[in-house]
Amino acid sequence: MHGFHYQEGRLHCEEVDLEQVAQEHGTPLYVYSAGTVLGHYRRLASALSEIDHLICYAVKANSNRAILQLLAREGAGFDIVSGGELYRVIAAGGDPRLCTFAGVGKSREEIEYALEQGVFSFNVESEAELAYINRIAAARDAQAPIALRVNPDVEAGSHKYVSTGRSENKFGIALERIAAVYESAAGLSHIRIRGVQMHIGSQITEAQPFAEAIGKLAPVVRDLRARYGIEFLSIGGGMGITYEAWFASGSGDWWSGGGNAREHKPLTIGAYAEAILPPLRVLGVRVLLEPGRLLVGNAGVLLTRVRYIKETGQKKFLIVDAGMNDLIRPALYQSYHEIVPVRQPADGAAGETVDVVGPVCESGDFFAQDRELPTLSEGELAAIMSAGAYGFVMASNYNSRPLPAEVLVRGERATLVRERQTYEDLVRGERGAEP
Ligand SMILES: *Cc1c(COP(=O)(O)O)cnc(C)c1O
Repeated sequence: MHGFHYQEGRLHCEEVDLEQVAQEHGTPLYVYSAGTVLGHYRRLASALSEIDHLICYAVKANSNRAILQLLAREGAGFDIVSGGELYRVIAAGGDPRLCTFAGVGKSREEIEYALEQGVFSFNVESEAELAYINRIAAARDAQAPIALRVNPDVEAGSHKYVSTGRSENKFGIALERIAAVYESAAGLSHIRIRGVQMHIGSQITEAQPFAEAIGKLAPVVRDLRARYGIEFLSIGGGMGITYEAWFASGSGDWWSGGGNAREHKPLTIGAYAEAILPPLRVLGVRVLLEPGRLLVGNAGVLLTRVRYIKETGQKKFLIVDAGMNDLIRPALYQSYHEIVPVRQPADGAAGETVDVVGPVCESGDFFAQDRELPTLSEGELAAIMSAGAYGFVMASNYNSRPLPAEVLVRGERATLVRERQTYEDLVRGERGAEP
């Protein structure tokens, strides 16, 4: 389910020819499909329409103002992890009163800012943080709305860097401790207990861990509702998406999944809803969801141009103009991204096995290794698919490479929503050494 397809021999995002966009704005270039983001949001909302719920988009997945604006206009809430993200939400016209503030290390400034803006809830991850928020709220004579983040200790089967719901992770408070921590929260004069939260990990491709975690939390929710009148349960985000699509050159639609050598079954919104609705229906509290990747992951691509082709004795390298500083997921998580030529290869055209690498001075700077791809020549454009989540937001200036530009497509319109950085941007704010 995404807005990318071949049309008249070229890869398009919705109605826009990606070759033209690359010509106009240069590469590397992130391109997002507004229709895909909205489609995912609406499908999720409608799958859950029978329960009282609020979708709080996890801003950290993609915090471009245009993306936040799209979702704010749909009435979405936002899950934020920093003061900077709260600032972005407000700048995009989002409602701070629909923001949940997560994260294990909130600073004084961030807590004060969030209190000032009247966030929906602080999702608290430790007793030390709870006490700190209470003190800051007391100094301002405010009541801080909170939910405790429970660590339900379930195995979500995702990469260890993105698994958060095991007892060995730094996140949340153990299930056994939770009743005691709520009791001490109830004794704090500037804390208002409002809900309970969990988030078990990211890129989870089965519905079962979600259902299991909700099942573990259900008795806790009932107890907290009886004792403190909590209003909500946040079940977090973490719904996985398809990264391993099949490039079916003939069909003009590479998402068909037919004949896929790499077996994969994406988690569908339908299957997710079917698994989580039964335990949620009977809880009688509002349900908050915090999807990030699910809404934006497949809504974005990173366009890159092949600069050089280099053959060594053993390997053929396509050296492209995007690097790990633009999209770090392969280097950081060994993640797989489909790579497709923007010019549609002819039916039955030859392929070859290549490494697709960037220009950054690190051996970890690759997008694909020993990958069978349609033949690409120097100067040709390729699209690194499923780059809408944890793509641009993790980009850096490493090797003094300016951050790439971002374009949002809606139907036939392509809008530049972030300018490419310049060399001047690279040194802005720096000072020379004292003589
Ligand atoms: C990162 C995060 C999310 C979003 O995760 P996705 O895998 O992108 O859905 C949601 N909630 C919290 C607390 C997070 O830290």
